[in-house]
Amino acid sequence: MTTTRAGSHASPFPAEMVTIATSETGVLRIDLDAIAGNWRALAQRVAPADCGAVVKADAYGLGVARVLPALAAAGCWSFFVATPREAAEARALDARARIFVLDGLFPGAADEMLAAGAIPCLASLAEVEEWSAHARRIGARLAAALHVDSGLHRLGLTAVEVQRLVSRPELLDALDLVLVMSHLAAADDPADPANTAQLEVFERFRAMLPSAPASLAASDGLMLGRDFHFDLVRPGYALYGGQAFQGERAPVSPVVSLFARVLQVRDVEVNGAVGYSGAWRALRPSRIATLAAGYADGFARAASAANGTTGGSVVIHGARLPIVGRVSMDLITVDVTDCPVRVERGDVAELIGAALALETVGGEARTIGYEVLTRLGRRTQRVYVGGGA
Ligand SMILES: *Cc1c(COP(=O)(O)O)cnc(C)c1O
Repeated sequence: MTTTRAGSHASPFPAEMVTIATSETGVLRIDLDAIAGNWRALAQRVAPADCGAVVKADAYGLGVARVLPALAAAGCWSFFVATPREAAEARALDARARIFVLDGLFPGAADEMLAAGAIPCLASLAEVEEWSAHARRIGARLAAALHVDSGLHRLGLTAVEVQRLVSRPELLDALDLVLVMSHLAAADDPADPANTAQLEVFERFRAMLPSAPASLAASDGLMLGRDFHFDLVRPGYALYGGQAFQGERAPVSPVVSLFARVLQVRDVEVNGAVGYSGAWRALRPSRIATLAAGYADGFARAASAANGTTGGSVVIHGARLPIVGRVSMDLITVDVTDCPVRVERGDVAELIGAALALETVGGEARTIGYEVLTRLGRRTQRVYVGGGA
């Protein structure tokens, strides 16, 4: 890993300024100052509610070891991960932060959870029973978050389970209930009536339970307004520059740019087939650039394009150019015929960045920016910018 310093954050970073190391296919540039800036902007937006940070899945693929300390330095102290192993990783990075585990309590994982000083988001009566029994066994009240199901039907206690829970007060007596939480199903669409329906169900659950701080909103939910903020919001995607909300733009800046080198450029005659299975054929004399990025780099194969279909695109010398043919493991092919500047071996293509937002890249690959983000960077060199490094 290489670190460079940058004065300002979230600057649109042009491909012309990118140097790719001779041994590498490309560069994944991660702006830690932009992540910290995004957290501050969201925290300001939801104040007086508190703003946490979701750093599950290695901070959405960006590297929790660099992202968590940058967020902690910005003032964040409530972190959400998905699994016990992620909790242990997060704890090793920060001795005093609160670490919540969104997947809840895995069977038999209470000791690990405790060793990591993590707080499980208990998502069923069985999990409450197991955590409560563990508390009694060790003779200490254990911090717990309670995840209730307000309509997503994925994780969380049902209304019947919450009724059973309150009829057995000894269960919660053994615990220190630090958060009651739920998750929204359609928060990206402010017009979806499911949002207010879930809000009402969540309020009803809260009225049944002992009073505790509450959390309902992730990145999109916090854009739905004050009613959804409660005591703590839990953004992930927006911190990393994602803009999934279909209403007003979130007050966040891009964080990630991905660049790949042009390996060669060739002329293809009319009817020449490009790539596996000849899925795309030139309809005119064409110039085709081959780039060092493929699905092994997390670049979706679904961004392939055959004749008559459109796939993904890249930006070279400021021009948006279409991917043609199949995306393969290590390579993609791009029609650069219409690029106003002649594309040459050694040029740098932008695959994600100022000119190609995560949502655009996700949409062109028939998926979402979240999936694009979390699949990036296993092979591409990562370069971190800022973060007080
Ligand atoms: C992943 C997740 C989040 C964060 O969601 P974003 O859309 O990335 O902000 C928040 N809460 C729960 C329960 C999650 O699973």
